[in-house]
Amino acid sequence: MKPTLYIVIPCYNEQEVLPITAPQFLEQLQRMQEKGLVSADSKILFVNDGSRDNTWEIITGLAKENGTFIGISQSRNRGHQNAVLAGLMEVKDRCDITISIDCDGQDDISAMERMVEEYRNGHEVVYGVRSSRKTDTFFKRTTAQGFYKLLNAMGAEVVYNHADYRLISAKVLQELANFKEVNLFLRGMVPLVGFSSTAVYYERNERIAGKSHYPLGKMLGLAFDGITSLSVKPLRLIAALGFAMALISFVGVIWAVLSKIFGQTVAGWTSIVFVVCLFCSIQLICLGIIGEYIGKIYMEVKGRPRYIISERTEDE
Ligand code: UDP
Ligand code: MG
Repeated sequence: MKPTLYIVIPCYNEQEVLPITAPQFLEQLQRMQEKGLVSADSKILFVNDGSRDNTWEIITGLAKENGTFIGISQSRNRGHQNAVLAGLMEVKDRCDITISIDCDGQDDISAMERMVEEYRNGHEVVYGVRSSRKTDTFFKRTTAQGFYKLLNAMGAEVVYNHADYRLISAKVLQELANFKEVNLFLRGMVPLVGFSSTAVYYERNERIAGKSHYPLGKMLGLAFDGITSLSVKPLRLIAALGFAMALISFVGVIWAVLSKIFGQTVAGWTSIVFVVCLFCSIQLICLGIIGEYIGKIYMEVKGRPRYIISERTEDE
């Protein structure tokens, strides 16, 4: 059985690139159909993320011209992650696999064939990973690499150099639908769902037209969101800092007492140093403990699934 593929493409103010890349997506899909990789009823879904330009008019035009193109439009701009999720949830019940990809032509569309092959080899999730960033500017490259390192150091597990170009099977999407959080960071959430996954590598190109919606500020925002929506490690760091401070304070107190004994201090200095050191560390440790509870509340509030079953010997 050939799987039915839906390609999910978020679009925000992309009137310059959409007319160029839409035919490329169609060509690629037809190529995969000719090769017998995906079924004839596969489709391309554009998700208009509240664009302020003519993006939606272009999408409706494409849908009229060719039944393979379909579109949905969000009531307002909600950001890339929400647009991708909206698209994935829209199609999860009518397809076997989805591939999400940006509409700016930066990600090599021919890698889709390898992704589908990996799916046919038994993988439910296939991450598109950039093999190099030669075409990115030095600045974009270093900041992007820093972004992945920071995320991993802070306890948010993400696949290095993988953005949101990936194949996800309908089976995994059904489980992803149970992740009810509103702060979305799909790169970190998809690995949490589990199931067999692999990666395919591709070269990343330059944007065909228009401009990036992810300048440094937004990228930092995304990193911050990624960390704070996936990990409670920053809260733990407060407790660690508290204990480190306690240690330093201990040394500080001894030093203050010794200075006092050897008579190098003015009256009152020792007691002030003593009180400052003591309360500083007590406060940080207390904050750390409170943080630990807040972290627990935070994870509970997310209401994520406690288990996900991937296989059964019996039929359901
Ligand atoms: N995008 C979106 N909503 C937004 C910002 C971006 O749907 O609020 C889409 C955009 O149209 C593109 C993809 O997300 O298809 C990635 O954006 P962009 O190419 O600007 O990011 P970069 O590749 O520079 O990181
Ligand atoms: Mg881009």
